[in-house]
Amino acid sequence: MRLIHRLFAISILFITACSPASDTIHETRFMMGTLIEFTIHDAGQEQALSAIEAAGSEIQRIENLFTIYGEGSNPVRLFNQSPPGIMQKLPTEVATLLETALEVEKRSGHAFSPTLGALNRLWGFSQAEAPALPPSDEKISTLSKASLACLQHGSEGSFSRNSPLCELDFGAIAKGYAIERGMETLQSHGINHAIINAGGDIKVIGTHGDRPWKIGIRHPRNSGEVITTIEAAGEISIVTSGDYERYFNHQGRRYHHILDPQSGMPASKAQSATIISSSATLADAWSTALFVMGREGLPLIGKMGMNAILVDDNGDIHYSKKCRIPLAALTLGSYAPYIRYEN
Ligand code: AMP
Ligand code: MG
Repeated sequence: MRLIHRLFAISILFITACSPASDTIHETRFMMGTLIEFTIHDAGQEQALSAIEAAGSEIQRIENLFTIYGEGSNPVRLFNQSPPGIMQKLPTEVATLLETALEVEKRSGHAFSPTLGALNRLWGFSQAEAPALPPSDEKISTLSKASLACLQHGSEGSFSRNSPLCELDFGAIAKGYAIERGMETLQSHGINHAIINAGGDIKVIGTHGDRPWKIGIRHPRNSGEVITTIEAAGEISIVTSGDYERYFNHQGRRYHHILDPQSGMPASKAQSATIISSSATLADAWSTALFVMGREGLPLIGKMGMNAILVDDNGDIHYSKKCRIPLAALTLGSYAPYIRYEN
């Protein structure tokens, strides 16, 4: 049921994301717990399909490298089982993404944290069987205390954890990183105009013919409705974190998958947070951070040169200050980054 709901939401988004044209190729793959849609414009069919094949493999490789769920082992899970207090050398790619994540943690005042693995597993939103009840207050309190600032950074990609309860989880950044790398793969196959849409986390390059791409941002409460449509051309990533993605209701309260690291409880200052940035990796991490920070986080996003759309806990929509101003005039010939909002 949850999957059907999610597929429906994605197809609504896709309809607004681009209207089909004869020279547009569209393929989907199921990865990273969601449908990943590739849309390529203005390329030969054979070239587009082999580019999508390669991008799909790259996204799958990243999922395998970072996931803490499912069967099999990877460097992240090995680290999560490593003896506390002993430095572990992580592969460069894992260490680099972890350093980015730790930087977001620092700048966001711990609204975002890549060490919530044990707490996230306790809540269970990413497990095959969806949870229906919150865990005990005692367990939440123990794990949230143990999860904060629990890593020691050594030299050259080495890290140690200070307790057996300190576990990495890249769930709030890996999808953005995957679509970033997926798009690089498309480009290395000569693709210049494309969208990758991973369940609402989107990266575009180029244009849709002589028009910008059009992306609908879904309404967090009225599924099937959009709060605004963004026109985007050039390299732009648009990533949303929402409390409608994975949740259950219990005694009149909504419990969802984005946790406030301080309390260990689902964050309660927003219904959805969208970040628009050239980097999909940063857009993913900061959309989660902004979701936790709520309205107070908007000036910080603006200061870092990113744009945001926040639906707060009352359902009011806020745009970061820069948001209504186009980044640059639309220059389709050179694909200068361009965004414009319609609402
Ligand atoms: P997203 O949908 O990108 O906002 O990421 C949510 C996922 O990231 C969750 O399913 C958890 O695995 C993890 N997560 C939850 N809360 C946080 C947080 N405050 N900081 C970092 N990761 C989180
Ligand atoms: Mg995220």
